[in-house]
Amino acid sequence: MDIETLQKRQRWTLEQKIDHAVATVESYIARTGKTPYVSFSGGKDSTVLLDLVRRFVSKDIKGVFCNTGNEFPEIVRFARSTPNVTVIHPKQTVKAVLATYGFPLISKEQAHGIRQARTTKSDKLRKIRLYGTDRNKGYISGKISDKWQFLINAPFMVSEQCCECLKKRPFKQYQKETGEVPIIGTLATESEARKQQYVRRGGCNSFREGHLGSYPLSIWTDADIWAYLRKFNVPYCELYNKGAVRTGCMFCGFGAHLEKPTSSRFAMLYDLHPKAYEVFMRYENNGITYREALRAVGVVLPDEYRQLNLFQDYE
Ligand code: SF4
Repeated sequence: MDIETLQKRQRWTLEQKIDHAVATVESYIARTGKTPYVSFSGGKDSTVLLDLVRRFVSKDIKGVFCNTGNEFPEIVRFARSTPNVTVIHPKQTVKAVLATYGFPLISKEQAHGIRQARTTKSDKLRKIRLYGTDRNKGYISGKISDKWQFLINAPFMVSEQCCECLKKRPFKQYQKETGEVPIIGTLATESEARKQQYVRRGGCNSFREGHLGSYPLSIWTDADIWAYLRKFNVPYCELYNKGAVRTGCMFCGFGAHLEKPTSSRFAMLYDLHPKAYEVFMRYENNGITYREALRAVGVVLPDEYRQLNLFQDYE
């Protein structure tokens, strides 16, 4: 498997991709011999996935939704109104996770490196995070970007552990208790990391011990998702009709520094759910609020620029 094969498959028609997704799930079920469930976030991708497996594979396949405590109310309503969806919860609250591990800022990869550089007892690992490896071979890997290295010594912690506590552990626990295996609606177009995962897995299914998983939408694009929703007239979360581009965790800071203040996730949250926005901005790590941490990485928050009447500067 290589990137060229992935790109070739991404150019297939919607019909070819539906056939491929169905075959992927059928072979996953046959080879694992286990009961599958769809990891259902309430977003458009997993909405397509749930419909696809129920329409073409088996109408009884269950959805599992993890209510992390920072889901949009619209998403929770939509998940609860979808038939045969089990709701699970993390053991810790969002507030406790952020206070203990730090804020999810910049990106998963950078936050992971920053946490390690800050907490590791290994000199070797710290050096890799600061300087990277294989510099003599002409490339650097594992290095935290120079721009974000100041966060290693910031008065608050940055970490990717939020996802581990709020999402991954509840699903692992669910799988342990039920013996069921996941079908997941991620797309390779989401990020470079997802593309590399597709290549490393060797396609849409993973049969590796401890990493069983089916990713039948890997080769789909956003346009395919919308085309499928329209083709089969599938109901989706109302949030998309309120201007949402993403429906993930309300307060997630990953990638927030790249967004325009007038159309950012925080602007949307502030408009739709101002009370929740205020609560999140007051969450703390080491006595520093989320608001202060977001400012430190260059995020311009909607209530601040609106108060200062700076619209024209950011349009
Ligand atoms: S997506 Fe962001 S906010 Fe949600 S659990 Fe993961 S790190 Fe936390």
